Amino acid sequence: MTRRRLAAFVVPLALAGFLLTAGGTAHSRPPAQSPVDISPGAIRFDPTLPRLDISYGQSDLDLEYIRKDASDADGCSTRNHEETEEAIVRPGTGHVTLAGVRYELEQFHFHTPSEHRFRGRTDPLEMHFVHRSAAGKLLVIGVPLRSGAESPVDRVLATLAPECGETVALADFDLATLLPRDRSTLRYEGSLTTAPFTEGVQWFLMSEQTVSPSTIARFQGLFGAGNARAPQPLNGRRLTVVPQFS
Ligand SMILES: [Zn+2]
Repeated sequence: MTRRRLAAFVVPLALAGFLLTAGGTAHSRPPAQSPVDISPGAIRFDPTLPRLDISYGQSDLDLEYIRKDASDADGCSTRNHEETEEAIVRPGTGHVTLAGVRYELEQFHFHTPSEHRFRGRTDPLEMHFVHRSAAGKLLVIGVPLRSGAESPVDRVLATLAPECGETVALADFDLATLLPRDRSTLRYEGSLTTAPFTEGVQWFLMSEQTVSPSTIARFQGLFGAGNARAPQPLNGRRLTVVPQFS
């Protein structure tokens, strides 16, 4: 092999090596973590994507404090930033269907401030509805909560469950009233926002719902330092707006 031909061969190899180093391996994608800060430039519009059919019914709820520091001596008074208030729904009372696949609603929970941001702006709270398919795939609906008129969400957060104490029972709750009327979604592929930060989560962000200022103050009073993960790099991911008026 002549020197010139050798160079022609070695340079692409070196470039491949650089790409391997920069991206982990040539076959792995860059991290696709959640939440994200949404810039308008990352959004595209696609009304042709399958609609998200939401079938939420009536359910008794158990509002429970989710602990992450059960082994700590002062765990009952310390607020770990991955802890939250979570409403457990009765199995079979709510589900969504996307492209023929059914995802059961398991629980919904709250973060302060909002985890997703738009142009760097946060909302006081964000609500996450966690759904799982029979194959184990996760689909989460995120709804920002803003200060304003009372809504059914106020009833869920009227009495917060203590970290080490009884859960709060709410009888016969109409789950559909928790969501905004406009069912348009901003969709992207991300991850869980708490450990183990598993990727492959389908995120569906909706427009805001309102809650009273006193509900916001009560939740922020419990999580004084917040319980939201910082925004993660988009790494080239796009978010897609799918209009839907049900
Ligand atoms: Zn969450």
